[in-house]
Amino acid sequence: MIQKNLEKVWQNIDSACKKVGRNPSEVTLIAVSKTKPVSMLAAVYADGVREFGENKVQELIEKQEQLPNDIHWHMIGHLQRNKVRQIVDKACLIHSVDSLRLAEEVSLQAEKKQVMANILVEINIANEETKFGISKEAAYDLVKNIAKLSHISIKGLMSIAPFVENPEDNRNYFQRIKKLSVDIAKKKIDNVTMDILSMGMTGDYMVAIEEGATMVRVGTGIFGIRNYNI
Ligand SMILES: *Cc1c(COP(=O)(O)O)cnc(C)c1O
Repeated sequence: MIQKNLEKVWQNIDSACKKVGRNPSEVTLIAVSKTKPVSMLAAVYADGVREFGENKVQELIEKQEQLPNDIHWHMIGHLQRNKVRQIVDKACLIHSVDSLRLAEEVSLQAEKKQVMANILVEINIANEETKFGISKEAAYDLVKNIAKLSHISIKGLMSIAPFVENPEDNRNYFQRIKKLSVDIAKKKIDNVTMDILSMGMTGDYMVAIEEGATMVRVGTGIFGIRNYNI
């Protein structure tokens, strides 16, 4: 079941790339494994998946301890400042930095552990009240300020598009994020690259890829629907 799902997702990534003349090697699939048991993660690991995304610090750490150490763990969920210390040397990339205060804590804790923290700045592209992330308009200033911190390296942008029935409805948002990342890249800020564009989930990752996503975060499409009541 999971294996079939994974095959399908890889095929979809390939065909979305083909449609717009991109090389599938430009797109990293992150298997979003939140709420799913370690046995399921082990199954997709056996099929070659090495990128996993979790949205809770504790869950990420517990799973990391039980699985092989060549896995890259992505922190994709909202991060509280008091949890940064635990995660800063465990996640290869923190996708969800959306304030200077949080970034300062990330840099401070990274310095204590003598690592560089790789981060994305999360954009709330549709200005939804229910979502975290900074507005498109405020993004450039935030990037500039975070870039001054000593133990953080900004690698790009992340966004969670609105929940829609028809993925085409999000195409315009993906285009806006892509444009924002190109605009920021043009400013050539020290310590900042815009190489990563983390956008697209189960419902809309093909459209996101067509519009330039370099990382897609797929949970349900691989592991099936989540049950939060267990
Ligand atoms: C849960 C989650 C996903 C995956 O969502 P699916 O619709 O199951 O693919 C992607 N990104 C973030 C930030 C998430 O929290």
